[in-house]
Amino acid sequence: MSSELYADHNASADLLDEVKEYLMIRMKEQPFCNPSSQHIRGIRVKMAIENCRSRIAELLGCETKQIIFTSGATESINSVFNSISVANTLSKSESKTFIISQIEHPSTIYAAQSYSRFGYETIKPSTMNNGTVSLASLESVLSKNTNKGCLVAVLAANNETGVLQPIDRIAEICRQFELPFLCDTTQLIGKENFSFADRGMDFCIASSHKLGALPGSGLLICRDPQSFHPLIQGGGQEGRLRGGTENYLGTEAMTVALDFSIRTLNQGERIRTLRDKFEKRLKRYFPKVEIIGQSANRLANTSLLAYPGTIGAQVQMALNDLGIQVGLSSACTDASLKTSHVLHSMGLKKEFVDAAIRISLPYSEDIEKKYDRLFHALNKVYSDLTSSAQTIA
Ligand code: PLP
Repeated sequence: MSSELYADHNASADLLDEVKEYLMIRMKEQPFCNPSSQHIRGIRVKMAIENCRSRIAELLGCETKQIIFTSGATESINSVFNSISVANTLSKSESKTFIISQIEHPSTIYAAQSYSRFGYETIKPSTMNNGTVSLASLESVLSKNTNKGCLVAVLAANNETGVLQPIDRIAEICRQFELPFLCDTTQLIGKENFSFADRGMDFCIASSHKLGALPGSGLLICRDPQSFHPLIQGGGQEGRLRGGTENYLGTEAMTVALDFSIRTLNQGERIRTLRDKFEKRLKRYFPKVEIIGQSANRLANTSLLAYPGTIGAQVQMALNDLGIQVGLSSACTDASLKTSHVLHSMGLKKEFVDAAIRISLPYSEDIEKKYDRLFHALNKVYSDLTSSAQTIA
């Protein structure tokens, strides 16, 4: 029996060896305590957090005071919506429209929706067939709603398709309309070069478990932390911007993972080339397979495949039996068995939406072998499910 192949890194990346090694030593040799305690142990743990903040500021091109450690991307996103609504209430502003893309993660969609009980509405510019947000539609929505908008949210890379969004252009448009821009960079950070100082968004985000560290830890970067209103009130942690005893173990592990991911970014082009070769090979044997978002720039590690006539969950199960774990279009839709809002917004026919499976790999040395195994497994599964046996040349 061959070893498992985990190909669902966009849902949650495998724990990095570097993180495992760090944690083993950390747990044996370093102190645990409340970082707010004033004794020497407390000061040591607090210093470790501040060292992480300095390292992350270097890695992500921001100032230390702009970083707020959170429990993950969902909390970071909800915190931004909360901050905007509190600011609006304090200033008695009537600008109560969120402009969010149709391809946002559910954490953004539901955060926006939850403010409808306070009189907010959400408008969604359309998506192009290739999976990018339509800039023309965004500009048109903003022009028609001048003085109504209070926040624009567009993610940097979609978790299902891997399609990279034109975030620099979106930041310019937001500046032109004087609107804050929340860019959910959860899938981008650690997979592509990123420097907050060089980009125009007001808020960006990272999540530890997407980077190969522990779940339950993440961060929010705010351009102007002084005007930020905290979602979680507590004992004054994170410069009074996020209450609650700090998850220092999570933050330390995240820093190790981020450091490692950024050092391996130079593998991106090689991985993109091997991914494209794998997709071409699959297309040669199964011309009906659709590579969703193929005509757009995508994350190097992601392929969203759909063989019409198959059902994604069936393909996932059959690959499971071969020791390979892939995702459906997104982990969140996996659980509720709803079809993907992202793929619908791209105008894909139902047979493609139903058939979609997502392959997302780590930036590792042995990626060529992984794609080879995936190709042979898919060849078997697609042939079995469609009774179209393919002989591999
Ligand atoms: N945003 C995007 C683009 C994601 O892919 C995810 C996770 O699937 C999230 C937000 C939520 O992340 P977390 O699990 O850290 O709350």
